[in-house]
Amino acid sequence: MRIGVLALQGDFAEHLAALARLGVATREVRLPADLDGLDGLIIPGGESTTIGKLAVDFGLIEPLQAFGREKSIWGTCAGAIFLSKDARRQQPLLGLMDITVERNAFGRQVQSFEADLHIPALKEVDPSDAPLHVVFIRAPLIEQVSGDAEVLCALADGRIVAAKQGHLLATSFHPEISGDDRFHKYFLRLAEPA
Ligand code: GLN
Repeated sequence: MRIGVLALQGDFAEHLAALARLGVATREVRLPADLDGLDGLIIPGGESTTIGKLAVDFGLIEPLQAFGREKSIWGTCAGAIFLSKDARRQQPLLGLMDITVERNAFGRQVQSFEADLHIPALKEVDPSDAPLHVVFIRAPLIEQVSGDAEVLCALADGRIVAAKQGHLLATSFHPEISGDDRFHKYFLRLAEPA
């Protein structure tokens, strides 16, 4: 199995490190041909407008859409925005997931925060059901899930921060910088070839 990480901008190195800790072969994806033979792709956090513009410049929009129709993609933070159908403003989006996001919904950079989240789906990779320690950095809120998209995690006040639609995942937060790799393990199970 080989997992790609979109390496146009943002914290792709942290995702590559998490995948390396789990012993998975990886590849940095910058051009359409880099998608060949991958079993899944992570789109990192960063700046969704920059990632979108670079994806347009490198001719990646359609190849990424075609990839996501067949294979697993997980978008974290800016990556979740890029996967969404609607970010309520004009910017390049893949539109693969039936989610509406509100960018920067938790405030500015200085209002970044850490949280321990209970994510029931992680029981599939860790029966202990222990909370996952994650970081929110100018994070988007998943305002709405529609179609067959489902909520994977909401905060105590009901705000949605993780969603799944078939083999596609979106998380508002960053699990790749806290050293707890269970969400990556969960994604790998989703990406496993049948
Ligand atoms: N605020 C960024 C955006 O709108 C996302 C921030 C992040 O990825 N940590 O794209």
